[in-house]
Amino acid sequence: MTQDQPWVVTGIVAPSSPGVRPGDVLVVSQLSAGQDTVTCGSASLIAGELRRAGLTVHSGTLDDLGVTADEPVIAAALGQDTAERPCAIALTAATAATADSSTPTPDAVDRVLSRWRAALGPRTVLLAEPQSFCAGVERAIEIVEIALARFPHPVYMRKQIVHNTHVVRDLASRGAVFVDELDEVPEGATVVFSAHGVAPAVRQDAEKRGLNVIDATCPLVSKVHAEVRRYAMRGDRVYLIGHAGHEESDGTLGEAPGRTVLVQTAEDVRLLPDSDAPAAYVMQTTLGADEAETVVDALEQRFPGIRGPASDDICYATTNRQNAVRAVAADADLLLVVGSANSSNSLRLVERSAAAGTRALLVEDIGEVPLADLAGVRTVGVTAGASAAPALVDEIVANLQALGPVDTRTVRVAHETIRFGLPSGLSSLPARASAAETGQAER
Ligand code: SF4
Repeated sequence: MTQDQPWVVTGIVAPSSPGVRPGDVLVVSQLSAGQDTVTCGSASLIAGELRRAGLTVHSGTLDDLGVTADEPVIAAALGQDTAERPCAIALTAATAATADSSTPTPDAVDRVLSRWRAALGPRTVLLAEPQSFCAGVERAIEIVEIALARFPHPVYMRKQIVHNTHVVRDLASRGAVFVDELDEVPEGATVVFSAHGVAPAVRQDAEKRGLNVIDATCPLVSKVHAEVRRYAMRGDRVYLIGHAGHEESDGTLGEAPGRTVLVQTAEDVRLLPDSDAPAAYVMQTTLGADEAETVVDALEQRFPGIRGPASDDICYATTNRQNAVRAVAADADLLLVVGSANSSNSLRLVERSAAAGTRALLVEDIGEVPLADLAGVRTVGVTAGASAAPALVDEIVANLQALGPVDTRTVRVAHETIRFGLPSGLSSLPARASAAETGQAER
């Protein structure tokens, strides 16, 4: 690829697509006419940057956007030799009456394309492995798919089934209705509890209302609930190391509300009132290993003899993804973490990278990666939280490959083979390939 000769097409077109208004910007990912096809693989990066600049942007193939190959700017583009050159096509929409090739490209488009040029260049991409979907998230999504296929619609989800905007949007488009609380669910309807778990009071409420409950609580969260019940039954005061307001913590606290105290930091522990009661602690499954250790140390100093879980409550998926980030961050100039802002395990990956001295960006998808952050960056680490789909990572890598030659390396710290069974009474959909067949959880 000749990095000093990027291929850029700008101009004015009159698209036929009814959703496009004059002044909108069209970012073309692929154009073809006859034998000629041009693919601009960093279209999603450019489209995201244009949206952040305040423009209304449509992205897709020429056909998607309702632009014909007869448009003068396209006809001229198709005649050029574009092989192996980074390309960008950003067209400004006008009406047929006002489309005029002498109309200047908006300044905002020029500025974005300048940033795109500055981001071009060869780089190394380090893929942290394991990353992306864990067994608990795969199971929760499969449970919702089964519920949508087997039960009358609408099928309700109490809270986000997993903390990821793309997953939620996709399931909503297939008929799932997301609610915050059960009083929004009509009596007798089907409701799915999220992977983060619920307090017993929520289960009782559902029973009272005659709801058909399907429980997608991750078995590793259920294990922590069981620990709380066991400690509380024998009279312990239970300290839950977790984050206030997180759904998992709320559910765990609800197992023994009179006996469980949430502590988030070592300072919280120092401020606890004295207590002679026997003490025990449990943890939220998605904590950072370092932060949890600090709080456990503080609890052990404050309450000598305090008992903890036989095996760590921080789950295998959280631990593996944090270890993989630690391995990648050492060699990366920048780490891209794919995940939503409310995803606890994704936030911990950002923190882990920062602790290693490597700047990390939390992004929902490639559209949120600022071009300026890629300029001059030669080694990019990429990971994804346990609730982010592998396809989002693939899209990031594809866009980076369109900016210049990329040497992609996998840095793997563990192989994940864990699978969780479905709740009793719920069997797989016949058409669905198993996770083992798709290899999704193996990423
Ligand atoms: S991150 Fe861990 S606890 Fe949470 S759903 Fe995945 S496997 Fe379960």
